[in-house]
Amino acid sequence: MKMDRRTLLLSGVAAGAAIALDAPGVSAAARKTKAVQKISSQEGIIPGKDLPEKLAKMEKWGFDGFEVGGGGLADRVDEIKKAVANSPLKLSAICAGFQGALASDDEQERKKCVRTMKEILSAAGELGSTGLIYVPAFNGQTKLNHVDARKVIVDQLPDLADYAQKAGTRLLLEPLNRGETWLIRQCADAAAICRDVNHPACCCMGDMYHMYIEEPNDLGAFISARDYIHHVHLASIKRNLPHQDNRDFRNGFAGLKLIGYQDFMSLECGVIGDREVEIPKTVKFLRKQWAEAEVA
Ligand code: MG
Repeated sequence: MKMDRRTLLLSGVAAGAAIALDAPGVSAAARKTKAVQKISSQEGIIPGKDLPEKLAKMEKWGFDGFEVGGGGLADRVDEIKKAVANSPLKLSAICAGFQGALASDDEQERKKCVRTMKEILSAAGELGSTGLIYVPAFNGQTKLNHVDARKVIVDQLPDLADYAQKAGTRLLLEPLNRGETWLIRQCADAAAICRDVNHPACCCMGDMYHMYIEEPNDLGAFISARDYIHHVHLASIKRNLPHQDNRDFRNGFAGLKLIGYQDFMSLECGVIGDREVEIPKTVKFLRKQWAEAEVA
C-alpha cells in the first residue's frame, strides 16, 4: 500500500490510540479496580443558609461529597464533623486557604506557606479529607526560573508529605492554565514532581477546566498521572456548570475508568441561572457522561 502523508498520520494516530487504550502504562491493579463516580461540589456553589442545609440539598440532588476552602478550617472542624454525622455525604478535598507560596523566591514566604499548610493539613486529616489542594505559585508569586522553582518545590515536599501522612491526608498538587500559572500546567508535569518526591502522600489532581486549555487529550492526561491522581475539578469551557456549554467530559471520564479512579470529582465553577434548577441538571448530565464514557 502506498503510504501518503495522510495515511501515515492516520496510522500513527491509530497506533497512539491503541497504546493508550491497551494501556501498558496502566497498572494491572488499576485495571482490575472498577472506577467509581463520586460527585462533589465546592460548598460555595450550593445554595443554603448553612452547611447542613446545603448538604441536605446535595443529598436530594444526588451528590456524594462536598469540598470546602482551607481558610479557617481549624475553626470549622466541629461544625463540619457535626454536619457530616447527619448526612451520607463525605468531605472530599480541601481547597487551598494557606498563605505564601511554596515556590516563592522569598524564603519567608515559603516558610509561611509550609506553616499554614500544616495547620490546614491537621484539620483536613481530622476530618478525613482526601487531601489539601495547592498551587506552588500563581503568576507573579515567584521570581525563580522553572528549574529553580521545581527544585524548591521538590525539596520541601518530603517534609510536608510526611506531615500530611501522619495527619491522615494527602497533598494534591493542582496544575492550572497558563493564564493563572506558568509553572505547572499539565497533569503529567504534576505527576513527574510526585514521582520524583516518591512519597505516598505526595499526590496531584486534574481540573478539567484547566485541562481543556492545556492538555491535548483528557484521557491521556489522566493516564499520564494515573498513580498520583486523587481529585478532579469540573467546570465547563467557560468555567460554568459542566452542562452549560459544549464541554464533553466523556474522554476524560474514560481515562478515569481506565485507571480505576476511586476519588471525588468536584464542581468548581460559576452558575448561569437558578442554582436550584441548574445544579440538579449538572448531576444528571455528569452521570450520563460517565455512563457513556467508553473504555475500549
Ligand atoms: Mg481547580
